[in-house]
Amino acid sequence: MRPRRRLAVISTHTSPLARAGTTKAGGMNVYIADLTRHLAEVGWEVDVYTRRDRMDAPDMEDLGHGARLFHVDAGPPVSLPPIEIGAHVSDFTAGVQRLAGQTEPYDLIHSHYWVAGLSGIELSRQWQVPHVVMFHTLGALKEVFQQPEPPFRIAGERRVVACADAVIGATSHERAFLIGQYGADASRVQVVPCGVDLETFHPAGIDESRRRLAASLPELCLDDGPGILFVGRLEQSKGADLLVQALPLIQNRPDARLWIVGGDNRDNGERARLCSLAADRGVAHRVQFVNAVERSQLPDLYRAASVCAVPSAYESFGLVAVEAMASGTPVVATRVGGLASTIADGATGLLVGDRQPATFAAAIDRLLGDEPLRRQMGAAAAQQMSRYSWHSVTRSILDVYEELLSDRGSTGSQRDPCCPDSVESLLVAAG
Ligand code: UDP
Repeated sequence: MRPRRRLAVISTHTSPLARAGTTKAGGMNVYIADLTRHLAEVGWEVDVYTRRDRMDAPDMEDLGHGARLFHVDAGPPVSLPPIEIGAHVSDFTAGVQRLAGQTEPYDLIHSHYWVAGLSGIELSRQWQVPHVVMFHTLGALKEVFQQPEPPFRIAGERRVVACADAVIGATSHERAFLIGQYGADASRVQVVPCGVDLETFHPAGIDESRRRLAASLPELCLDDGPGILFVGRLEQSKGADLLVQALPLIQNRPDARLWIVGGDNRDNGERARLCSLAADRGVAHRVQFVNAVERSQLPDLYRAASVCAVPSAYESFGLVAVEAMASGTPVVATRVGGLASTIADGATGLLVGDRQPATFAAAIDRLLGDEPLRRQMGAAAAQQMSRYSWHSVTRSILDVYEELLSDRGSTGSQRDPCCPDSVESLLVAAG
């Protein structure tokens, strides 16, 4: 019998166990946790390495099905912005090496985000195993949407793109960007969409969902009126403020409420800004805030809402939209990034071409004013999301892994040391 394949997952700047929907924890954390679980279920041995960002983090945590999470000492044991973690990449890599030295060798490395990719390059060279990377967000893409990024991030991403054996993009748009803007070798860039857990996110009795939510989240102020749902980190690029401004412009259902779900007490400043915006527009009583919720509460929220709104400036994939559609709720979203490929405009939701409150209000109004259309779109959405099932996503990821492993097997185990520059030289050169 072939020994079980062993995978090292590198997620330097954030843990898969961090509460999604707060500060920097979101789709990537959910993705790593779900993929780890599904790979472990099909027999892979998976170890995830993340930086210790709090004193009391245990050295090792069990992720189920034999998968393990290791906290690696590198830099101060406090939460740091990803950009500052760049300075601790060498320590982190050395820490992973030390821990990995105490276990069986790995067959493959899968890193997430550019900071982890830098460690992935070095570990892949040391261990002589293939390295797969996913960026989740790209600095140059954020810049397109007027969010400037430090030059050494882009330089770091370029280096990871050049050195990784395979790059996985979530959409064909991301793939084209990797090839066009980062000079990626087209033969090494694969598209595999993110997955959604269809056992959790599926349509079910709306009345029951509403009853459960009325008891568990009284702050929603659930009544007979429709709910417009925003789920996500309270980051400005996500556009919760745009929805607050859209709310008074909705004419068909002046009783509609806006539920803003996400963030925690570190976001009190942003929440105060949204509250005062709502008060200025005379809709403070119709905007309800809920701190980031457990994943188990999300299906009820999606089902209870009439519309899920995703007015982001950019989304590389946009898991929230897919989770909502899988739960049978149509989505109104900006026509950007992954949202433009996961939402079938006019069939499973509505795509909005600009980020003006009036345009979003008009699209939401259209659905709130036409219940048969809203229901029809919700049903179509749930049906179409089966293409993002974890079963099929895991299969596609395994295809990428197996191809690399068989290439490696046929060309011998030695590989050229790619990109010999140290991480420090990259960071110094980039200033
Ligand atoms: N999320 C959550 N609880 C919350 C808010 C968000 O679990 O209260 C999850 C949400 O279900 C989704 C992820 O956070 O899986 C956000 O992913 P998305 O791709 O939409 O945005 P990102 O945070 O990656 O920019």
